[in-house]
Amino acid sequence: MHPRPRLLSLTTVLSERARAAVHVTLLALTLAVAGLALSDLGLFGHGAVERIFNDWVYNGAELTAAALVLSRALLVRGERRAWRILALGIALFAAGDVYYTLVLEPMSNPPTPSPSDAGYLAFYVCAYAMMMMIVRVRVRTFHASMWLDGAIGGFSVAAIGATLVLEPVINVTHGPFAAVATNLAYPLGDLLLLAFVVSVFALTGWRPGRAWLLMGLGFATLAIADSVYLFRVAEGTYAAGTILDALWPGGLLLLAYAAWCEPREREEIRFEGLAVIVAPVVFALPALLLLIRANYVHMSVIPESLATAALIAAGARFASTFNDVRKLSNVREHLARTDELTGLANRRHFYASLKSAVDGCTLRKSSFALLMIDLDRFKELNDTLGHHAGDLLLAQFGPRLQTVLRGGAIARLGGDEFGVIVREADGAQGAAERIQDALRAPFKLEGLGVSVQASVGIALFPRDAKSAEKLLQCADVAMYQAKDMRTRFAFYSPRSDHNSRVRLGLVSELKGAIEQGQLVVHYQPQIDLRSGDVRGVEALVRWAHPERGLLAPDTFIDLAENSGVMRELTASVLEQALAQQHRWLCAGRELAVAVNVSATNLVDPGFLADLHETLERSGTPARMLRLEITENVLIAEGPRVRTVLESLADLGVQLTLDDFGTGYSSLAYLRELPVGEIKIDRSFVAEMMSDSDTATIVESTIALAGRLGMDVVAEGIETPEQLELLRSQHCPLGQGYLFSRPMPVAGVERWLALRDAQKPEPRRSEIPAPSTWATTFN
Ligand code: C2E
Ligand code: CA
Ligand code: CA
Repeated sequence: MHPRPRLLSLTTVLSERARAAVHVTLLALTLAVAGLALSDLGLFGHGAVERIFNDWVYNGAELTAAALVLSRALLVRGERRAWRILALGIALFAAGDVYYTLVLEPMSNPPTPSPSDAGYLAFYVCAYAMMMMIVRVRVRTFHASMWLDGAIGGFSVAAIGATLVLEPVINVTHGPFAAVATNLAYPLGDLLLLAFVVSVFALTGWRPGRAWLLMGLGFATLAIADSVYLFRVAEGTYAAGTILDALWPGGLLLLAYAAWCEPREREEIRFEGLAVIVAPVVFALPALLLLIRANYVHMSVIPESLATAALIAAGARFASTFNDVRKLSNVREHLARTDELTGLANRRHFYASLKSAVDGCTLRKSSFALLMIDLDRFKELNDTLGHHAGDLLLAQFGPRLQTVLRGGAIARLGGDEFGVIVREADGAQGAAERIQDALRAPFKLEGLGVSVQASVGIALFPRDAKSAEKLLQCADVAMYQAKDMRTRFAFYSPRSDHNSRVRLGLVSELKGAIEQGQLVVHYQPQIDLRSGDVRGVEALVRWAHPERGLLAPDTFIDLAENSGVMRELTASVLEQALAQQHRWLCAGRELAVAVNVSATNLVDPGFLADLHETLERSGTPARMLRLEITENVLIAEGPRVRTVLESLADLGVQLTLDDFGTGYSSLAYLRELPVGEIKIDRSFVAEMMSDSDTATIVESTIALAGRLGMDVVAEGIETPEQLELLRSQHCPLGQGYLFSRPMPVAGVERWLALRDAQKPEPRRSEIPAPSTWATTFN
């Protein structure tokens, strides 16, 4: 393992040999530059050694820097063009120096401009081009204020530089035009380079990071070396062989390091109070001072215009900051009204809209509708797939609602509850239907397609209530009505209000009812469609309510789910069903028993142990117990439910997937789970006679399940025609009113006895035609 080199972090992507070559070359270059500095300090005397350093080490160092930058462009992906251009620039610069050493230095009166100047000046062009490209790649999302900071910094530095360097150089430069122009091109080029570096630093929010810092320092070193050189040449004080000479290769060395330094991860630009305006103020100030100075001392037009430009940029910068602050307060206001997850209005804002709708419609004597939407079985989804998945679903549902209900006020009221205001009461039903449309396509949750349904409660103003509070209550009641009746949507009615009070009453009673043994189990036979035998029974719970009579599970399963008594409910059903199965077994009837379990049970850590204990107590073999699980439970890719399913299978318990086709699981996915049987949802059986597509789906499901080694139960068989069609499709098992409704134990026993009596001991060839035996058994 190689420790990750921090400075030359880009070399980690190279092969062992290439990395070693880059490191060695950089080290050699560093030593050469250090040697040059020492030589310039006179350490090697003023003889041949110094000359070798000044000529060949110097030129060699520059060419090496070019090679290092070029190798970065060739060996590492990303920003290649930028580094190639810089390598070219450095090579041209070095070529200028080589030409100088070979041709110009020996001359007594070298010409200006010379081919060397072309090389040096070309370097500027390449350096600007390179910086532009890098800025475009690395600095993507910048705020207007950062560009302005860049401009202020750039102009200001240029103004200062122009005052300090350009003016003296202009003042002392004389001669033919080409010579003057060449000499002026250098300080201008340097100023631009420095201004560029400062602007880039501003663009990075004054946190340039290592790579930019090295690059900036490199360019700045070159610019400073040039400026001092020009200044001295102009004043006639320049002498070769001072430490100044080491600055050029030193600057190029920094660029070579920068080339091999990983650009920093892009950071979020933060706006931190006053700190953000410190930089522009610091850079605007010298520009301001320069302009004040210009009142007293003559200043040439270039620095003056640069300083003015810096101040104009500063003005724009403060205007933009002011604008940001205003926008930010708008954003805050928006956030206070918005639900973060869905982007819809939040409860508070919705309530305000509702109130103003009530006021407005009271004045105009017009009507409107309030819709309350609640997703069905959302808790189950949260429990099985996790809250993150729940959040993902809500986040997708919000925009879908907005698309189907253009114009109306839509809000998330909390949890999986949404509210909608529809302007005309007449539009309420249409809106409710469009909401269902919005749910038609499955939601994408981390690769799984998940379908959900919703129940919508509708309250009308002014018919149902005349205040916002009361209207919300009515919509809530209607929503529960829709849930209970599974009607997808329901209008408020005083009767449903009564029902909702009943519901609330039931919640408080349920726990006690379970303890007092008010839950009873009915059984519905399951038939082997091939032999006509009774395969077993499905246990279906009922609540023998002392006042309200026998209550169907639809009225209280959700209550049990939401009030946290699902564990007790399932335990009671399992206990009764297994005890009954044991009694049947003792009486010589071998009947498989299927019990429905919910998601809550499967994620309950005590469930397995409870089940094991109940099985032991009842003395029935585990293989004769089937657990019916709805599809929603199985979407739990997560290890929790899968582990439970596997443990159940290990126990020997059979698993059936209930209501197949209403959810989102595919057969291929089921194959990975220990599920041996699927139950085709009764909605398919109900539709298959009138809809040939449905019939085809059922047929291919049966065929595919068979090929995967799974059994299929068709549920909700009500007519002989359905049975016939299913048999022709080779459906192995069936269940439905056609055979028998769910019955209490005594009813089942009578039914079985009757069937025994009517049905002769079957021989394979004598299985009666479906239509006859179906009616016989009913
Ligand atoms: P399910 O598991 O799909 O049960 C089948 C439901 O279909 C039963 O309704 C049954 O009476 C009904 N059914 C059977 N054959 C036909 C038919 O030919 N036509 C029609 N239209 N319906 C038929 P039930 O007993 O009202 O149960 C409703 C749901 O309540 C069950 O649907 C199941 O999801 C839940 N449930 C019942 N008992 C339990 C239980 O002990 N635990 C849990 N967790 N859920 C239960
Ligand atoms: Ca079932
Ligand atoms: Ca079912």
